[in-house]
Amino acid sequence: MPHAVTLIPGDGTGPEITEATRRVLEATGVQFEWEVRQAGLEMLARHGSVLPDDVIESIKRTRVGLKGPITTPVGKGSRSANVALRKKLDLYANLRPAKTYQGLRSRYDNIDLIIVRENTEDLYAGVEFQRGTPELEEMIETIARTTGTHLNIDSAISIKFISVMASRRIVKFAFDYARANGRRKVTAIHKSNIMKFSDGLFLSTAQEVAKEYPDIQFEDRIVDNMCMQLVQKPELYDVLVLPNLYGDIISDLSAGLIGGLGVAPGANIGSQYAVFEPVHGSAPKYAGQNKVNPMAMMFSGVFMLRHLDERDAANRLERAIAQVIAEGKCVTYDLKPRSDDPTAVGTSQVADAVIEKLRKL
Ligand code: NAD
Repeated sequence: MPHAVTLIPGDGTGPEITEATRRVLEATGVQFEWEVRQAGLEMLARHGSVLPDDVIESIKRTRVGLKGPITTPVGKGSRSANVALRKKLDLYANLRPAKTYQGLRSRYDNIDLIIVRENTEDLYAGVEFQRGTPELEEMIETIARTTGTHLNIDSAISIKFISVMASRRIVKFAFDYARANGRRKVTAIHKSNIMKFSDGLFLSTAQEVAKEYPDIQFEDRIVDNMCMQLVQKPELYDVLVLPNLYGDIISDLSAGLIGGLGVAPGANIGSQYAVFEPVHGSAPKYAGQNKVNPMAMMFSGVFMLRHLDERDAANRLERAIAQVIAEGKCVTYDLKPRSDDPTAVGTSQVADAVIEKLRKL
């Protein structure tokens, strides 16, 4: 039976890397039934929305999406299609693997991290009070009355909220992922020495959940210490689980450790649906030039294959991409020692090279 997958090319360089990824996925021999759905800037001009309803309807049918990046239009009233997609499908877990492959320009050669970021709560959820508004004034009064802390009237406020429900489900997700993928350890990241209530709740919930998984090691780290440890000895870590804001920062730090955005895959997963996409954005200045690296999206495709239980195809595709990186010949400008290297190839030539390797595996 072919796998029905919603394919969202996105905009900017999205369509080019999506086409390259579709080709290598099909070259694994796995059968797909693609439901191609358009989202992005062109849809905003044509339909008044960057995320037309038929995109959501399709993912609700197929349950799996593979998505290129989408530009967030700058201007009043325009929303990010990416944030809307996560909210509408309740994709509460943001999964970002960070793995070194031989041939990448990285200071390390032994990183294999899975970062599990909570996607719905925390300072990042956009509950804010703007300076000079009546709502802000009311909030300042409430804070003074309930805590005795008097904020300056020219403040702005962003709320950090963390619930047991969301913490429990993200930590369970991290442990379930560890168990299903042969991982040995989960590390919960927090700052509960200072934010005793919000991060304290995240930590105590994580400790409770950990008791349900005696086969997986558990430990916790304070976020500032974790940053230092990741730079000094990243090989000690395995699966990291974090609240939203720390997850955002640590996952970019980890992408930097492994050699950059061109090879950093991602996924947004909920209890019913999953959408796989590269970490990077639409890089619009390179749109239509057959220039950018499709490997971040190809690695996202590898994770999608694992999600679809096509493990053999996933392993072969990962090996084929790794071989192309290791040879260093048919790679885009970002993987060359100098970005103006004249031997850099284009997006579609990377797909050709990966398909060539797949044929020999
Ligand atoms: P970006 O990731 O698009 O580009 C930053 C730089 O990184 C590029 O100029 C390029 O030099 C490099 N780069 C990115 N992807 C690359 C690739 N595949 N190969 C080689 N080099 C690559 O970030 P930005 O410029 O901040 O964002 C552009 C747009 O994308 C914005 O509108 C932003 O909101 C959006 N965005 C979308 C997503 C998403 O769809 N999930 C994620 C991040 C940003």
